[in-house]
Amino acid sequence: MDATTLINSFRVDGKVAVITGAGSGIGRASALALAGAGATVVCADIHHDTATETAEEIVAAGGTAEGVRLDVSNRGDVDALAARVATERGGIHIWANIAGIMVEGPFLDAPEADLDRILAVNLKGVFFGCQAAGRIMVTQPEGGSIINASSAAADAPSPNIVSYAICKAGVVQMTKSLAIEIGKKGVRVNAVAPGFVLTGMTGRYFIRPDGTVDEEMQEAVIGPMRKHTPLRSIGEPEDIAAAVLYLASDAARFMTGQVVRPNGGVAMV
Ligand code: NAP
Repeated sequence: MDATTLINSFRVDGKVAVITGAGSGIGRASALALAGAGATVVCADIHHDTATETAEEIVAAGGTAEGVRLDVSNRGDVDALAARVATERGGIHIWANIAGIMVEGPFLDAPEADLDRILAVNLKGVFFGCQAAGRIMVTQPEGGSIINASSAAADAPSPNIVSYAICKAGVVQMTKSLAIEIGKKGVRVNAVAPGFVLTGMTGRYFIRPDGTVDEEMQEAVIGPMRKHTPLRSIGEPEDIAAAVLYLASDAARFMTGQVVRPNGGVAMV
């Protein structure tokens, strides 16, 4: 492959992508990255307004996108979205399961309702997305690429996030097992495991209800993160979107069942 062909293999022109969690943070940045590289992007989020905002940003920049409300924990809705997109857009080539939530608290006191809630979104939601996308992709001559959001929490245990960590570890195993099962059909399944990234999920530690930033609290959260990260920085959503784009594209045509770790070096596996 010559250099021009190689750099062009990072483009995703003509591909149809569905991104969950596309209304915020890493999902939003991934949607913008894929659209910028040529994909038609279906921006799905539990919040219709933010999903639509991401899609509108893509369209304003000259791309093709739509925003839809989707609760990834609702299997029927996930299946229906996949079926509609495949019919209307001529297939699904990229599906990124990025939507996720955080539930925190001491393990010994964790309520069952909290466990059910996080399993429903972070584990079953990814399962449903993989299933819906996989069923369509295995029928396509061109196959497809599924990307799942895991976390450094699956590599480097931290206190008070046990339910989150087991979901993210489950996502890794789901990714590998599914990759084995459908690789022969030309469908690749990989995961990204980000380190600490400033998003809605992490910003809630220091963003007040009125939207202003508690700077003292922000430094109290981010300072130690930076200090314990070999690169001495925290991530931006685009740092993860770059990995999503790579895994989605033909540049990663020989990658499946892998976990890519844009994490500043905080975990090395
Ligand atoms: P984010 O900014 O909170 O974005 C996630 C989006 O998904 C939000 O709009 C969220 O809505 C939405 N969502 C929640 N439940 C949903 C559901 N049932 N169906 C559809 N959408 C739903 O979070 P992020 O930081 O970008 O995280 C994206 C992914 O990366 C997550 O899977 C997260 O676990 C993972 N991750 C993040 C970090 C980090 O440091 N940020 C590190 C490692 C891994 P709400 O705002 O209402 O919840």
